[in-house]
Amino acid sequence: MSENKFDIPEQFASPNVPALLTEGSVIQFKCYKGISCFNACCKHADVTLAPYDVLRLQRRLGMNSEAFLKKYTVPFQLDADGVPGVKLRTDDAGACLFLDGENGCGVYEDRPTVCRYYPVALLNMREKDTYEAQQQYSLVRESHCKGHDEPREITLHDYRKEQGVEEYDAFNRSWYELILKKKSGGPGVGKPNEMSLQLFFMASFNFDMLRRFVLSDNFKASYDLSDEIYAEVAEDDIALMKLGNRLMRQALFGEKSIPEKGGAWEKRVEERKAIWETRAKAEMDARNAKTESEMRQETTGCADN
Ligand code: SF4
Ligand code: SF4
Repeated sequence: MSENKFDIPEQFASPNVPALLTEGSVIQFKCYKGISCFNACCKHADVTLAPYDVLRLQRRLGMNSEAFLKKYTVPFQLDADGVPGVKLRTDDAGACLFLDGENGCGVYEDRPTVCRYYPVALLNMREKDTYEAQQQYSLVRESHCKGHDEPREITLHDYRKEQGVEEYDAFNRSWYELILKKKSGGPGVGKPNEMSLQLFFMASFNFDMLRRFVLSDNFKASYDLSDEIYAEVAEDDIALMKLGNRLMRQALFGEKSIPEKGGAWEKRVEERKAIWETRAKAEMDARNAKTESEMRQETTGCADN
């Protein structure tokens, strides 16, 4: 499989602009067990995961997020500012860990979006002055994939239905829009600080940690949400994913859709003040000691031991 199955707007600055397809476009393609190239694509897997992909896979495997992410994914950077993404882990030869020998995909009913779409690439693009994701598509032709030679024509509309991508796109759309906004926002958006990047990773992929975070006393003391919402996110993964998305927008773009409790920040500052003051004093002492040592060295020509 080739790279960049998700939108990276800059790729359109490349001279190799793929021909864009729409829902009405017709492609010639069929993949089935028994085709001569069966599994070839999964033996060289490069699968970027979106939040709903992670949720479906971890649910299927009955694993918690931390264990799933550790065992089955590898981190990478979605952009030059270090916004974190995850890909499916492969074995040393590049094969997907879910490939189950001649049986094909071992998680077929819950396979990720990229695998469902293949050989179609989903390109989330935005219209000028909006951050709404407009889905377009392009066809990926790789020499090992013989599905293009099969005599079946199908519209992209029907292909999406056949592959069950509609549900995945619906749940991931808001996340795609967030990435688009981050990538296209220019200097106004700026480089997120380390804490925002960690929050982005947690809210995108680490749902168990996100649940603990939003149900913690600290969070409840800082944000003004109803008990019904807390009860919902305690039980419902999709509600949790949606709240996580709002949190990311709040942290990255200052979109304040989650009301903050008045005075929460001031209270937290008061609580942390003693720790921050001790830390600041320790840093100041260390700096003074270093300066003193350097001055002594300059004067005497001797270094401290
Ligand atoms: S998840 Fe399934 S379809 Fe996707 S690369 Fe792995 S084995 Fe292939
Ligand atoms: S036809 Fe293409 S997608 Fe299907 S198994 Fe072969 S290489 Fe993979």
